[in-house]
Amino acid sequence: MVIERPLEGRRAIVTGGNTGIGAATVRALAAAGARVMINYVEDEDQALALVGDLEGDNNEARAFKADITDEAQVSAMFEAMDKAWGGVDILVNNAGIEGDREHTWECDVPTWRKVIEVNIFGSFLCSRAALARMVPAGQGVIVVVTSVHEVIPWSGYSAYTTSKAGLAMLVKTMAQETADCGVRVVAVAPGAIKTEINEKVWGDPEAAADLCTKIPARRIGRPEEVADVVAFLASDTASYITGSTVYIDGGMVLYPTFIHGG
Ligand code: BGC
Repeated sequence: MVIERPLEGRRAIVTGGNTGIGAATVRALAAAGARVMINYVEDEDQALALVGDLEGDNNEARAFKADITDEAQVSAMFEAMDKAWGGVDILVNNAGIEGDREHTWECDVPTWRKVIEVNIFGSFLCSRAALARMVPAGQGVIVVVTSVHEVIPWSGYSAYTTSKAGLAMLVKTMAQETADCGVRVVAVAPGAIKTEINEKVWGDPEAAADLCTKIPARRIGRPEEVADVVAFLASDTASYITGSTVYIDGGMVLYPTFIHGG
């Protein structure tokens, strides 16, 4: 059965919701009926413009500036959810950074640490605050945006790959902890999706063509193709899915170099 607005009235928060996959997710959740809090740390104009767009479509939306690596700021953000809407039903841990492209032995230590802090520690802090509300309420969904680099090593990005593999285990562990509490925790693992984060690749025809050789579907994905899956996973239609990763990657994890035989 197709439910028109499967997230009607649900209270959602999307970290890094002002841009890229986060912004597309905010739109998809709102289109499905959710009230959405857009977390951002920079580019306030984008966050406010998105709030304006959603309100124009008669959806409830707010923006909240918080650095997700800062415990006090994360607490304040979830308290703002409590105050606005009385709690949280859906958390999308989307905010993430890639760091600089450097071999591990050449990495700048603060930059490496920052990637782990934003991607893992930030997701942990937000999940902790969300679960502290969801578990007593006996319901809720956390969707964590990981990457194909949960499983594909990526030369030059050891902090990023380590963080994404770590996030997959955070998802599994939190799912195991909460499965009998009415809470689900899942991951989506995007491949190459056309957003600002990889503009340097898809913006350069030669690099884009090389990238497409790594994708069996031979094209870069759209943010909406991730966002719609997040909205599905957040809905009750996905009620028996917890702890797993859904790859949204045009087949990138399928060892594309083997397409022509080994
Ligand atoms: C990265 C993108 C990259 C993709 C596939 C993502 O996690 O953020 O920059 O294109 O993985 O390698």
